[in-house]
Amino acid sequence: MTSKPSIYTRSYKLTAPANAGKINRIRSLVRKYQHGLTVLVASMDQRLIQDAKPPNKYTDSRAILNLSARQTQSCYAQARESYSSWLRSLQKTVKRIITLSTLDPHTKDVLYRLNYHMAWYAKIYELDWMVARDGELVHPTTAERRGGKTTLIPVSDEHLWLMRRIVKHARRTNHRPDLSHETTMKMDAKIAVLEESRGTGFSWWLRTSTLDRGQPVLIPVKDNRFFARKRVGGRLLNHVQLGVVDDRLSVSLVVEKPCAPLRGDGDVIAFDWGLVSLFTLPDGRMLGRSTLAELKRLDALLMDRVKKLSSKGLRLRGDSCYDSLVSRSRSLMENEIGRLLNILAANAREIIVEDLDFRGGGLSKRMNRILSRSGRGFLNRKLQALHEEKGIIVTKIDPAYTSQECSACGYVSKRNRRDQASFKCGCCGRALNADVNAARIIGGRSSDVLPRGRGAAHRKTLYDVLENRHRASCGAWLARHTTAGL
Ligand SMILES: [Zn+2]
Repeated sequence: MTSKPSIYTRSYKLTAPANAGKINRIRSLVRKYQHGLTVLVASMDQRLIQDAKPPNKYTDSRAILNLSARQTQSCYAQARESYSSWLRSLQKTVKRIITLSTLDPHTKDVLYRLNYHMAWYAKIYELDWMVARDGELVHPTTAERRGGKTTLIPVSDEHLWLMRRIVKHARRTNHRPDLSHETTMKMDAKIAVLEESRGTGFSWWLRTSTLDRGQPVLIPVKDNRFFARKRVGGRLLNHVQLGVVDDRLSVSLVVEKPCAPLRGDGDVIAFDWGLVSLFTLPDGRMLGRSTLAELKRLDALLMDRVKKLSSKGLRLRGDSCYDSLVSRSRSLMENEIGRLLNILAANAREIIVEDLDFRGGGLSKRMNRILSRSGRGFLNRKLQALHEEKGIIVTKIDPAYTSQECSACGYVSKRNRRDQASFKCGCCGRALNADVNAARIIGGRSSDVLPRGRGAAHRKTLYDVLENRHRASCGAWLARHTTAGL
């Protein structure tokens, strides 16, 4: 079997010193871009709702919104990338709503298929079916499709109406991307060209068009050892990410590289992650505990600021003190996650994690929300990078009952977990740190053959499997119940 050659791309931020004049010209361009992105996403969405069509590749060569034709194309590509990625996430939300609904199986089947084609707003739509002898419609297999045995049947108005209602509901929690504050322009070679620079102390000149026709800006870009190392065996792409952040230019260059081969030997590492200690290992090691103390300090400052602002009726967003506390907390956590993962991954062949977000830590609800979203995103990106760059296998296991199952005897109960920190088994009496117990369960789950799935029905099935296994193998349980039976 031949597999697709795996290639990954990654962007790296570089230093790009520029004077105020250049920064201002780039800033004006970014503002026009932000407006362009907003208008384009809105029109893509309008087209989806009215004509049931997702956005095409750019075909129009018209210039819009004071941008040149080439800049418009680049802006369109960025808007489309962001909008399309949102459509895929909306698709997942819709799928979950259908799965959790109590609709009959045929209706679910129709809705799943409409959702697969993103035909949420279709006014007329046909699906192919196998018609059974009793008239029942059956989802065709690929072979039946190829054999031409299927019949195209229009989807009923009721089903199309139901589809629109579900997607409307999904959009309440999953909002269309707002790019009005986007600070980065993703530019292709048509509007930004990287030129090698000789004898200037810089490595490249980035020549980029501006709002002034025929007057490009030349931005000096500095190479560094880290970036040079990352380029080895890879290729520098003709894509540049350019923006203005805090009155400074932000330039990122993109490298394309083949994925590293999988590591043949090394350790298998499992961990539970949370805010009390960022990583808890099955052997009881707890890493990153000092981070929580510092996060608590920042949390107190953050809550003070929130109180002050809301008493004056001011908005949080845009307040420089609030924003800086948020970004300090995030980068503190991300730096720690990155540092610790590098240490853990040094000799690892496989990393096993639970597919779940942060828990607990005694921080405010606001701080928890701020950290859990960005922390989960950061951890996932970091694990992805370890897989691509170091060839480490990343296994994500089902999080159901990992915090309630006893790592000694397998007994599952909500009452086993007495509070955030302590675990005491109601069956065999084993007491240990709750995160250490969870890390042991996570480590065992990857090689375990358990039913897979999602939702309430799956949790029930999984519970039964775990409980039956516990009864069959736990000495404490058997001793108690056989004595009782005598
Ligand atoms: Zn137990």
